[in-house]
This record gives sequence, structure tokens and C-alpha cells, in this order.
Amino acid sequence: MDLKEQLVQITGERFGLAPEQCSDRQLYEALLTLTRRLAESRPAPEGARKLYYFSAEFLMGKLLDNNLLALGIHAEVRDLLSAMGRNLDQIEELEPEPSLGNGGLGRLAACFLDSIAALGLKGDGVGLNYHYGLFRQKFADNKQMETPDPWLEPDSWLIPTGKTFTVPFGGFEMKAKLWDVAIPSAYNDRANRLHLFDVEEPAQPPEGGINFDKTDIVHHLTSFLYPDDGDDAGRLLRVYQQYFMVSAGAQLILQELEERGFGPGELADHTAIQINDTHPSMVIPELIRLLTGRGLTMDQAIDQVSRTCAYTNHTILAEALEKWPLHFIERVAPQLVPIIRELDRRAREVCADPAVAILDGNGLVHMAHMDIHYGYSVNGVAALHTEILKKAELKRFYDIYPHKFNNKTNGVTLRRWLEACNPELTALIDGCISTRWRRDPGRLVSLMEFMDNDHVLEQLLTVKQSAKERFCRQLREAQGVEVDPNSIFDVQIKRLHEYKRQQMNALYVIQKYLEIKEGRLPERPVTVIFGAKAAPAYVMAKHIIHLILCLQRLIENDPAVRPWLRVVMVENYNVTWAERLIPAADISEQISLASKEASGTGNMKLMANGAVTLGTLDGANVEIAELVGPGNIYTFGAHSDRVIRLYDDKGGQRYRSLDYYHTPRVERLVDFLLSPELLEIGDAKALAALWRDMKGKDWFMALLDVEEYISVKDLAVRQYGDRKSWARKMLVNIAKSGYFSSDRTIKQYNEDIWHLS
Ligand SMILES: *Cc1c(COP(=O)(O)O)cnc(C)c1O
Repeated sequence: MDLKEQLVQITGERFGLAPEQCSDRQLYEALLTLTRRLAESRPAPEGARKLYYFSAEFLMGKLLDNNLLALGIHAEVRDLLSAMGRNLDQIEELEPEPSLGNGGLGRLAACFLDSIAALGLKGDGVGLNYHYGLFRQKFADNKQMETPDPWLEPDSWLIPTGKTFTVPFGGFEMKAKLWDVAIPSAYNDRANRLHLFDVEEPAQPPEGGINFDKTDIVHHLTSFLYPDDGDDAGRLLRVYQQYFMVSAGAQLILQELEERGFGPGELADHTAIQINDTHPSMVIPELIRLLTGRGLTMDQAIDQVSRTCAYTNHTILAEALEKWPLHFIERVAPQLVPIIRELDRRAREVCADPAVAILDGNGLVHMAHMDIHYGYSVNGVAALHTEILKKAELKRFYDIYPHKFNNKTNGVTLRRWLEACNPELTALIDGCISTRWRRDPGRLVSLMEFMDNDHVLEQLLTVKQSAKERFCRQLREAQGVEVDPNSIFDVQIKRLHEYKRQQMNALYVIQKYLEIKEGRLPERPVTVIFGAKAAPAYVMAKHIIHLILCLQRLIENDPAVRPWLRVVMVENYNVTWAERLIPAADISEQISLASKEASGTGNMKLMANGAVTLGTLDGANVEIAELVGPGNIYTFGAHSDRVIRLYDDKGGQRYRSLDYYHTPRVERLVDFLLSPELLEIGDAKALAALWRDMKGKDWFMALLDVEEYISVKDLAVRQYGDRKSWARKMLVNIAKSGYFSSDRTIKQYNEDIWHLS
């Protein structure tokens, strides 16, 4: 049957209608069914060893467009629909976004699944089927409000497998029901799977807010992505979620191993498990438990697991390194406690230093320590990050196990983040260097030959302009906000966190506002665009959102400032908004405090779409700077070694925000938070709390870098005016972005860690 016939059959069976008679909604459902069926029927890739990528988050984004492209039927479906007077883009809008992740870490896992399939590697994802992903963000009174974001409709990407696994919790058992999402390869006729475990009887949707009974584990275990862990009930639920995921996942692995014809003693020869951050760490003791239950001795089980598991570290922020009270685990999975104690005992035999122990004197289990002792690989996610791990954060472990440490600089799938989200730029690139770069992104460097081709440079500017105009339309439709497509689009899109320093960008806005009020107009109009969600319990992050929204309002109401400076915060920043915004960005804001952003991936997506980075030498920005050269990136700020020293208590060199506050320019900017014009719009308590924090604490040192930041941004705004030279910068950034394809990252994981084939 050809596609048309299949579509006719589906709409006939489901709705009793011909496709031409269907609503967009019905056509969406029919295309979902068609696409899911085609993907589902593909066989798994071949391979002697199989990878399981364990992650508490998979931020997949919408899948229809992606899957039509991977299946190679996108153009045909688009033409088929347009022959009926219908528009595929419009139909794709109807898909709810599965937001089963918070930000970069979850999106990385999604890019990796795409690349693993594309490269023909045998590897599945393992995670949880949250019914509500990350909350939906709404703005009211210039503040963030959270509402639930249901993504599961009666018909979705989930394929029922009929498989269930029994997870033994302390005092009760639960069944883990397995659902699959097919991950079709873009380059061959195979598909991997994302395995998502769910409870048998999920709770009814809560009414209104995002609060629910965190102690009702049986019904709520998979209700929400990362329940608020501000209290013990939330923290305990998180441990239940983690054990549920890894126990069911480990049982699935052993079942598949047996189906492939191998015994439990052959696990390591045929399996690799990547532990994405510490959330899945309990897979180590759980697998040991299951293997000893299948006849292996403790020594044998530990040996197998230690040759199977590999760990990725994503952060050096102390508060993000998981340490669970042993009594939590005693309650959730008491059967793991003797195993963890034994693992701790053996680790102490290897090294007596209590700093590398798994169990500490306060009864806490250090999940990362368990991963490092009992995994065969430890990787950081950018060159600088891995160096900091080896030299500082994990130095003691590096001294014991130097051979385990390796770097895998993150990447993004250019199929979604360039080909799919920016077809005009893709066509321009194709026209210059043929389509071969798509399978081999390193070939993008041959764009460098067009540095002096005025026609190509002009086209590059035209493509950017049309992406900006398209974004303006989308923003107007979604939020009723009107911005000038001829202004510079200065874009900072990422989770709201103090270390990412959106507050420093807000200080830039204040500086420009004050200058314009004094009659000093900028070189050209600038639109500062933010997209960011704050964790619901993260008070300071919410204050920063409040500040940005107040500035947005202040400027909107000021006809003298408005033509020169705008601030826009996109509501509910998610993958879909990222796909709209990234093609339209001129400047990519990557201004984290050096040493704090492990890698970043937004920086890579923006670069590939011709945005020029304005950033600190942090995470993968360092590698971007090396690749594009100093003329094609704007860097500023304290370097990571200095920052690390400024956190050090020794020698009285510790950072004191007051020293930086008490300079004439900085004081004026910070004090603007308490100005009459801002207090008239905003919440005095919130603004005062933020002001106090910036002035007296400023843990992530915004005041240290703010002056240099403002002057470098001024320089970028000025140089933007030389359009031809700016177009060259854009071209160099696109040309050098091939390195940041997740296909390259996954090849390196496979060659150095997984050895799948
Ligand atoms: C890529 C991406 C991120 C990560 O952005 P960073 O700037 O690297 O923090 C977060 N959220 C979404 C929706 C993304 O697409």
C-alpha cells in the first residue's frame, strides 16, 4: 500500500471519513498512527553488545516532524496533504510536546537516542513515563505561575508492550508496566526503543495546581517529573521513582540477555549501561542483587556489573550531587542496603580515605562515589569540565582510577536543530556544499570557502531576517507581543539558575535603559529575548523572572525607550519554542560563571544556526572559541581557575560582592531594583530580596563580571552594524558547528566506552 492508501484506510477506520473530509485534529491522529506503525515495524539494529542508556529524563520534544523525516516520508506526506489543500506544519502544531525532562540533561539524552539510531547502533533508552512532564509556565502579575502539562492523550507515541516487571519495595510490591517509543534511524531501516516504565494504576489528573499526595506512591509514582524535593515526602518519592526505574530496567536487561541466548555470567560481554548523571545509580546494587539471585557469587556479580556500567557526570554544583540518607533506601529498597554496605566495605579496602567512601559518617550514600568505584568509565561533558573533575572535584578518584576518566564533549542532533528547525538555512548550505554534510557534519567546514562570496553572505543575512520575521509572527500569535524584526535579537534561553546569570543580563538592560533615559541612544535597537523556567521551589530564580518581567513592562510602557530597547520573556520555554527561537537569534548569550556550566548544548544549537556567541570561557564555550577563533566570538569574564580561587576560604581571597557593588556604575544598576519606577510595577518584597542578595551575597559573582560584560556586549552591538563582516562571523560559526553534532559524540562514546560493534 502506498502512503495515500494507508492514510485513507486509517481515516476510514477511525473516523469513517476520507482524509479530505478530516479536521486537522483528525489528520494529526491519523498521521500519528501511520508514523508510529511504520516506526514500530522496523527491526532493531544488529550488534554483539547492546547499550541501555538510563536517564531519569528524556526531553524528546514533538516527534511527528522528526519521525516523518527519519522515515524518509516527510516530503511525500507534505505534498500529499497540500494536494488536498492542507498544511503539514499546521497539523504538526497540534501535537502536545512530551516534556519529560527539565532542560539540557534531558535534551542531551534525546539527542543521543537520535544519534545512536542514526549510526545504526543497538541501543535503547530506559526511563519513566511521567504523566505530567515539566510544568507549563504562565505569567501573571509579572510572576511565574505553574500549571500541569498533560501530554498523554488517548492516542500517543507510546506502544504497549504487554511486559510487566515486579518491583519489590520495602513492605509492598508494585508492577512496572513497560511502554515503548520507537526511535527510527534517519539513515537505515532500523529502529531502537525508548523504554518508559509506568505504574499499573496511575492517579486521576489532579485539579488545578501541581500539588498532589506525595505519599500515595502506588498511584503517584510516575505522576510528575521530579516532584518538588523541598520536603522529605518529595525526596522519598524521588528515591521510589529511581528504584522503580532501575529495578524494572535491570530486569528487562537480564530478560533480553537470556532471550539473546546468554547467561547472567555473560552480561558484561553483551551489555553496556550508561548512567546519565547519578539518578539511575541504584542500577549497580540492583543488578548485583539480581545476578546473585541467578546463581553468581558476590565477586562474580560485582565483576560483571563493574564491566557493564559507565557513568556520566553532568555537574560540579555541590547541591546537585545526590547523597541519599541510607534510611531512605532502607525504607524504599531494604534489600539493597547490605549490598551497598558491602560495596562500601570493598571500596574502603581499595582506598582508606573517607573522602572517597560510599557511605559517610552522617549516614548518607554518595551516589557518584558508587558509580566511580563500580563503573568502568567516568566521563565529563566538555573538555574544561573533565579537567576540573580530574584536578579538583574528583581529584581523589582520579588519583585512584586515572584510566577510568575520559571526556565526551556534548553534542546536539543537527537533524532536529538545523535541518528540521531551519529549512531555509539548510537549503542554503545544501546549495553551497551539497547535502553530504548532513550525514557527515564535519563537512560543514567547507563553508569556509564562501567567506568572500558576497552572494552567499547576503543570502545568509536574508535567511536570518526571514527567520526573525517568522518568530515575530509566532510571538505575536502566542503572546500578543510585538517586536521589531530589524532590531538585534539578543537571546538567552535556558533554565533559570543563578549560575547561568540571567540577572547579569537584566543589569545590562538596566544600564541601557538608564543611558537611553539620559539621551544616550544605542548604536541600533536591541531586543533582549529570554526564555526560562524556574524550579517551583527556587525562590531566588523566581525573583529573577519577576525582575525581567518588570523590566519588560517598564520598557513597554515607555515610548522614549521602546524604539531602542525591548525585553521579551517567552512564556513556557520548551523544545518547541527553542526550535522557533534558535533560527532567529543574532547573539547567543552563554554567560554562566566560569567553571559552573558543565557543557551547555544551547550554545551549540545557536551556533549552528548562525548566532554569534557572547560568553564566558565556560563549558563547551571554550571549545567553540578555539574552533571559531577570537574574531568570531565575544568572550569576557573571570576564568575558571580564578573563580575557583575566589570560592576558596584560604588566604582571605574569598569573593565579597560588596567590594564590587561599591563602584559607581555597579551600585547604580543594582540599586535600580529599588527605584520608584520599578517598585510601581513590581512586588517590593521580591525586588528587595533580590537586591539584598545581589548586593550582599551574589554567590555566582554577577557583579564580578558585569562591567566587562556590558562593554563587550556594546562592542558586539556596534560590530553588528558592519553587515558583511557580521555575516562572515555567522558563516564561520555554522562552518565550525559540525564538531558539535551528537553523531560525533556518540561515535566517541561507542569507540571509547561502549564498544557495541
Ligand atoms: C537545549 C535546551 C536546553 C539546554 O540549554 P542550555 O543553554 O545548554 O542550558 C534547555 N531547554 C531546552 C528546551 C533545550 O532545547
